[in-house]
Order: sequence, then structure tokens, then C-alpha cells
Amino acid sequence: MGAMRPEILHPLFAAHTSLPGIGPRFAKLLEAATGGPRIVDLLWHLPTGIIDRRAAPPIAAIEPGMLVTVTVRVEAHVPGRNRRQPYKVTVSDESGRMSLVFFHARPDYLERALPVGELRVVSGKAERFGAGLQMTHPDHIGSLEEIERLRAIEPTYPLTAGLSQTVVSKALSTALDRLPVLTEWHDRALMARESWLPWQDAVRSVHRPTSEADLLPTTAARRRIGYDELLANQLALLIVRGRSRGRSGRSIKGDGTLRRKIEAALPYTLTGAQRRSLAEIVADMEQPTRMLRLLQGDVGSGKTIVALLAMLSAVEAGAQAALMAPTEILARQHMVTISKLAVPAGVRVELLTGRDKGRARENLLERLKNGEVDVLIGTHALFQEGVEFKDLALAVVDEQHRFGVHQRLALTEQKAAVDVLVMSATPIPRTLTLTVYGDMDVSRLDEKPPGRRVIDTRTVSLARVDEVIAAVGRKLQQGERVYWVCPLVSESEVLDAAAAEERFHHLQERFGHRVGLAHGKLKAAERDVVMERFKSGEVSLLVATTVIEVGVDVPEATLMVIEHAERFGLAQLHQLRGRVGRGGTESACLLLYAPPLGEAAKARLSILRETDDGFRIAEEDLRLRGAGEILGTKQSGMPQFRVADLAAHADLLPVARDDAQAFLAQDPELKSERGNALRTLLYLFERDAAITLMRSG
Ligand code: ADP
Ligand code: MG
Repeated sequence: MGAMRPEILHPLFAAHTSLPGIGPRFAKLLEAATGGPRIVDLLWHLPTGIIDRRAAPPIAAIEPGMLVTVTVRVEAHVPGRNRRQPYKVTVSDESGRMSLVFFHARPDYLERALPVGELRVVSGKAERFGAGLQMTHPDHIGSLEEIERLRAIEPTYPLTAGLSQTVVSKALSTALDRLPVLTEWHDRALMARESWLPWQDAVRSVHRPTSEADLLPTTAARRRIGYDELLANQLALLIVRGRSRGRSGRSIKGDGTLRRKIEAALPYTLTGAQRRSLAEIVADMEQPTRMLRLLQGDVGSGKTIVALLAMLSAVEAGAQAALMAPTEILARQHMVTISKLAVPAGVRVELLTGRDKGRARENLLERLKNGEVDVLIGTHALFQEGVEFKDLALAVVDEQHRFGVHQRLALTEQKAAVDVLVMSATPIPRTLTLTVYGDMDVSRLDEKPPGRRVIDTRTVSLARVDEVIAAVGRKLQQGERVYWVCPLVSESEVLDAAAAEERFHHLQERFGHRVGLAHGKLKAAERDVVMERFKSGEVSLLVATTVIEVGVDVPEATLMVIEHAERFGLAQLHQLRGRVGRGGTESACLLLYAPPLGEAAKARLSILRETDDGFRIAEEDLRLRGAGEILGTKQSGMPQFRVADLAAHADLLPVARDDAQAFLAQDPELKSERGNALRTLLYLFERDAAITLMRSG
């Protein structure tokens, strides 16, 4: 895909090492600090502070602690007498004298930078030393001509260990000098209304703040580049969606016989939200266009039965349906639940996973092709080569945030006109649904089935971990099952796994072979085995990282312990908690925190004690943490925004959606001049998968 990137963007996608002064060592540090190895990553690395170097008093007027830029004459070099003594350079102006101090100095460099008898500009923090004044390691040393540049306001950037502001600033300054001039992709009227600068000027401007206020996400320059990203995102989503929508679909209309049979056999009645969602889905399926609908519902809100009834309306119409789960264990779980309900009604349900091989698989594929299978359940193996349906009408995708955009594309690329229903248990705040799913149609299960027990949720200090372990012991004694979730230490699965392993060994000493371990470093198949053993009861205490977040159903699990709960997002804690309380037994969730817990963290955790409404929790999480944090972590499975700030730029979201929609309606192939510029924008924000899609159609 990279090969198709417009040439004008090449300099922006060059490696950090293409900048002068950046060798492999600094490049590595820059990559760590900016989140990527290329110059664009540096451009999106925004300043978070400023240093004001404008003060330029005479030496006599300098107060210790002041940051100053002074013009001085170099008087003498005084090398240290041994390695531990610093190298000093005395300098003066008409009013007084001070020393510049260097540890581990390179004398040849200092002699060149500060020749005796000459005037120089030095900038840095002054300190008192005995009766005198000194400046240790000035931040800048320059000639008189450079005073304007040095007596300035300098941005400061988030760093990593080993990286200095100077290195980042220098790298950025070259990068900003090399910015290409890009054809404007925004609507002129919008530019005028918002007083936005051209792209390259806006990028320079965000990196050259002249006051604290310039650092805010609400400046015109920040809003402009934020809007660039939001627009790229909306365009990409709409292109993907337009592809699946625009394709002629077909009207699927069942006669209701299977649905009535199954509903009558249910031990419960559907909730109002389930009925409403089902009606929306069925109405979409009856339309001659393709459906792309999201069924959003908290853990336990009863999405499965809604999906099943939708699939049955396809079967009633004489077609087939498929249900794709993100893991094998979830696929098996669906198989059990669904066949229990559907098989007695005469529906032919089968399971296909990556594990199926040989004759059995051949046989299943044969029957699928002949239309002897009505509902096929499985993992992504469902959409691999060789799997041919006789007449697939509806594909349901469960727990969609575990699937990447690419799988989503693969689905929309099915050659037959397949309706797609995506199910997600991630309670995304209303304001953010748009950024994640574009304007996919949404059905929400915002009502829980009746009779759910409240999960007793408590916060407990980690200092009391021994009492918690004792409580775990009591649960195990009673034949119940317990989850122990270990914290997200970092974005690194290696570190997370290490923390989980340590806790696992610790608990194993106490509870022996009853303890199992599941984390992201294990192969999916190995993890499935551990999960199966936990389901069957061979393992009764499962130590895990957040890999268990996805909807595995173990009704015997009654206690959820979450270590370092303060490090998790609320929505994530809520999803984890939803793993218990699925059977009839009283269940509890213990949120272990490392003391002392700050006020904000306390407030966050107490929301979980107050409510078990996932949507409310998601809204509160958004309010307390800001959208950046919710969407920013890899864990969340949400799109990553580099410069858009969803809290500060929220008003621009609907603008981006309308803008993208209106534009695509008039130039769906992005062929006009603005269309071309928008293609460049898609590449700039690496949403170019959407372009590939357009080309292939
Ligand atoms: P999720 O939305 O997390 O996928 P499930 O579909 O697994 O939820 O449903 C959770 C449980 O609730 C299942 O045991 C299911 O049988 C039950 N359930 C679903 N709908 C209802 C309802 N209307 N009344 C009572 N129980 C229900
Ligand atoms: Mg589910």
C-alpha cells in the first residue's frame, strides 16, 4: 500500500535517521518518545510546555534561579585539576562576572564554542555558587547574530530517558523546514469561518507556541490539524461503509415460523430493548440494500438471542447465516447456546474452526455448499478460502473490537450481497460512536434482562492482599470459581505477562494445581486450553491479564479480583466485572488498589460501586479521563488519534461527518481536485486501506 502513497508525502514518511544529527541511537529514542519511526510521528508529537528565554538582564541584575539569555565576553578557560572537578569558563559584561560550568567537558569543543576575548550569547539557568553566580551546562551557546533565535520562547516536548529537549527541537526544526506544501483539502468556506491556516503553516504554528495558551487544543492551528484527522477518519469509514451499502443487496424476509417456535421455547420473554433491536435488524434485512448495523449492548444484555433470531429470519427465507466469534472458545460457546435452542426447531447448525481438518472439514464444507447447513458458527476460519456458502444472507460478527479493520473489510468484500450485523459489548459513549463506527446504524440494548443480581463491588487496599487470598480460599472451598486479573503494567505484553506469572506462582504455592494462568504471551490455542479447563472446573482459580475480557461465559465464577484496579479504565473494569454473576449465586468483585489512592482515582472507582450500567460508566469515564485516554490505549481497541482531541474537538465531529458525506455524494471516487487532495489526506493519516478498497471496486 505504501508504494501508492503520493510522492509529495515521501519526505514525511522518511525515517528519523534522515534528519541531520539523528543516528540510530537517537532514532530509537525518538521512536520511543513519539510512538513511531517516521518524521510524521515527530510532527504529531505536540509540545506540552514552553520555556521563556526572553529575559536578558545584565549579569549584576540576575537573580539565582532565573532563566536568562545573556551576551557576555569570554575571559578565561579554567580546566578542572582532576576528572571530578568541572571545567569552568569565566565570562563578563559591563555590570559583572559569572562562570559557565561543565562536567565531563570536551576542552577542544569548549575552546571552539567559547573563544577567549570574543562576545557570545549564552542561555540557561543561573545559580548562586558561594559568593558568585554560575550557569551549569548552558542550554544554548551562540554567536551575536543568533541572539534573536535564542532569546525566544521554546516549546518543550514529552521525552524518554536519554533524550533531551535539544535533540527533539533540532530534529523538529529541520522537519518543519522540510514540510511540503500540500494542496488544501478543506472546504474554503469552513477554512474562512474557522480562520484556519494552510496545513503546513498550521503544523509549524503548533510547534512554535509563544504562550501557554498556544499549547491548548483549542487554538485554531490545533483545531485545524485535529479536524484533518477527524475528516480522514470519517472519510475512510464512509468509504468502507459506502462499499458495503452501495452494493446491491437483496431483500430477506422470513415468514416468522422458526422465530415463533424458538421464542415460545425460551424460558424468558424478550426485553423491550431486544424486541426493538430485532425489529430494526429485520427491517434492514427486508430492504433491498445491504445492512451494516451495530448491535451494542452491555455484557449480559442478551445479544446472542437477538442475533439468533435475526439469523433465523434468513433461514426462514431459505438462505444461510454465519456467526463469527473472535476466539475458538467463544465460537464453541455460541455453538452450545445456539444449537440448544435452534436444533430442536429443525435448524441445521454447524461449527467450523481452524482446528477442523481433513475429512470432517471436507464433509462440512460440502454440505455448506449444498445448502445442507443453515447456520455456521466459527472463528475467522469462516471467511477463509475454500469456505463456500450456497446462499449466505447474514453475517454476524461478535465482539467486533477484537477484529481489525482489515477483517471488517474482508467481510464487506464478500462477493455475495451479505447483510452484516456487528455485535459489541464495549459501551462506547454516544459522542464517540461516530468516530469508531462512522455512521453505521446502531441498535442499543440499553435494558438488562430482569432478575439480575447486583455484583457486590468493593475497593480493597493491596496492603490487605492476604485477607483477599483467604477469601479466595473460602470460595474455592465452596466449589466456586475465581478470576484474578493482573494489572496492565505497560503497553508491553511481555511485562504484563511477567506480572501475571509472578502472581500465578504466588497463588500456586497456596492453592496448587487448581490455579491456571492465561495471558497475551501464550498462543491463542494454549490460552483456549486454559480457558476450557477453567470452564470445566479442572482449574478453579484463573490468573489472567485482560485477555479474559472478551465474553467467556463461566456461570460458576462468583468472585472477580482485579489487582491495581486504579490502572484500568472504568469501562474495562466494568467488562471484567461482568464475567461474574452469570449463574444464580451471589457474586462479588474486589478492586485492589495500591495506596494511597488520590481523590480522582477514588471518585472513579466509586462509580463502579454505584452503578452497573455500562453506558453510564462509559460516559463517566469519558468525563473523568477525557476521550484521549479512552481512545488512546491500544487495549481499548478504538482507533488511535494522533492529534485530534475528542474532548476539545467534539464539536468538529459532526462537521467532519457531514463534510465527508456531502463530498462523497458528489465525488465518490475522489477524482476532482479536492478529491485528490483528500486522497493525500487519507495517506497522511494512514487511512489508505479505504483507498485500496475504492480502487478494487
Ligand atoms: P451478551 O449480551 O453478553 O452476549 P448473552 O446473550 O450471553 O449476553 O445473554 C446473557 C444471559 O442472559 C444468557 O444466559 C441469556 O440466556 C440470558 N437472557 C437473554 N435475554 C434474556 C431475557 N430477555 N430475559 C432473561 N434472560 C435473558
Ligand atoms: Mg456475548
